Amino acid sequence: MKDRLLQWLVCPDCAGGLTLAVYRRQDNEVNEGTLQCQCGQIFPIIGGVPRLLCDPLSRNLPRLYPDFFQRHSDLLENQAKSAAIGVSTGNKATIDRFGYEWLHFSDYNCDNFDQFVASLPAEFFNGKLGLDVGCGAGRHVRQASRLGAEVIGIDLSHAVDAAHLNNIDNDRVHIVQADVYNLPFNNGIFQFIYSLGVLHHLPDPERGYRALPALLSKGGSLFIWVYAYALRKVALELLRFISQRLSNHNVRRMAYLCNLIDYGIFINTYRLLANLPLAGISIKRHSPLRVKEYANYGFSVGYTDWFDRLSAPITNYYRENEMQAWLQHGGLCKTVLRLEGDSWWWLYGERKA
Ligand SMILES: [Zn+2]
Repeated sequence: MKDRLLQWLVCPDCAGGLTLAVYRRQDNEVNEGTLQCQCGQIFPIIGGVPRLLCDPLSRNLPRLYPDFFQRHSDLLENQAKSAAIGVSTGNKATIDRFGYEWLHFSDYNCDNFDQFVASLPAEFFNGKLGLDVGCGAGRHVRQASRLGAEVIGIDLSHAVDAAHLNNIDNDRVHIVQADVYNLPFNNGIFQFIYSLGVLHHLPDPERGYRALPALLSKGGSLFIWVYAYALRKVALELLRFISQRLSNHNVRRMAYLCNLIDYGIFINTYRLLANLPLAGISIKRHSPLRVKEYANYGFSVGYTDWFDRLSAPITNYYRENEMQAWLQHGGLCKTVLRLEGDSWWWLYGERKA
């Protein structure tokens, strides 16, 4: 954690200011320490990442970072206070699945950030402070910082460890473990907030969406991508019915098998035929968008995406009237709602200036 991150953080429980205590510094970062609030909450900084989780989510930390809590056993008492409260089964499964995904696929190199932000002006990111909600292994924060922004990436799972390591040399990226339902930031500080393919995995996606506009500065922009309803998603739900009953390792095997069929047959056939003289032009024009997109990437991107599809405990798909309702409740102006391919909704809005 860089010291300058502190100016933007508050207690996720009471929104009070936080006091930093440093246990260990490494490479100009706080590698271990705590952030304390006057309300009594103490949030550990583990492996360079502040863990701003409220009870009961913070109860997972001693299990995941036993070495840290062995060195600072006094902090265990703080965790034990909440021992009576359980983490809901859905939340636990989500944290477990996505944490596993981004630690095992942390080298996921699908640079599709350009596609996600294609509607924005070229200078959109330059000089702004932004928030990435659900940053996973941190590939989008890296891209946004390259376009000139300073970005804070949050994720609920221990994927933040991969995100931190993937951006360790980047002064303009900050990673925080946090929950979208209890965000640890002052209101009105971000010039942009985005969430790319994440909110539909929440137990209550609209509640997550509605937590975000208050954090925008006046005139600030919010844009999200969420899954659109499509008939083929019903077939996917049949596969997910099986995968939800498998261990993380076996979901990986199933994802590999699905991608062998998907990539090996469909994508490779497209690649072969699209290069044919004359007929290739027609094939390029009439092939589904997803086939054309995956033809640009290697096998590993499809493999990771299959794991993502099969492993997420919760996946919601949205119709247009539901997205319109989000926009109505979000309190934003200059709103745009657009279907991208048959898979995604692009939703954009600005806070009134
Ligand atoms: Zn507090």
